[in-house]
Amino acid sequence: MLDEQALCLRCGLCCDGSLFAWVKLRSAELSSARLAGLRVYGEHPADRGFAQPCAAFSGRCEIYFSGFYPKSCSAYRCVVLKRTAAGELDEEGALAILLRAKQAAEELRVALGVKASQSLRDQIADLKPDQLDPLVKTALVEYLTLLRNAFGVDGIQDALIPEFNRT
Ligand code: SF4
Ligand code: SF4
Repeated sequence: MLDEQALCLRCGLCCDGSLFAWVKLRSAELSSARLAGLRVYGEHPADRGFAQPCAAFSGRCEIYFSGFYPKSCSAYRCVVLKRTAAGELDEEGALAILLRAKQAAEELRVALGVKASQSLRDQIADLKPDQLDPLVKTALVEYLTLLRNAFGVDGIQDALIPEFNRT
């Protein structure tokens, strides 16, 4: 049986601001999320949530076993986990993808000067790609392509991904 927790404990990309800039909350969760120390914002239903990197993430989720654990987090499975559960990937193959993405994210953080306290996704979205060093731009395109193909995450500088621009 797939040990999702074991894979997630080696990853954390959906908690540290690499894949997402924020996570949705239900209205009934707002006060408990604040009590848990999450950086809650947005009172409007469309953007009600908490910011990433998640304040409860310290390499693992510190509120996983608490009553503060958000429903969105409990429901979320990335594409890598879904494909592994469906038998399309074995755990070794899934782990290889997760570790490759983590390494690429870390290398980009260093290259772009993005601190651990900042959302890599947000910082990439604000970049002006034409002003990047060509090597950094190549690494960025590879990273975005990996996020899109392996995690189904897009919407960040999509114009840079060649396969998005085929007619
Ligand atoms: S990105 Fe996927 S494998 Fe990584 S922590 Fe999130 S759900 Fe788990
Ligand atoms: S609450 Fe836990 S699972 Fe949800 S984003 Fe934060 S660290 Fe990740």
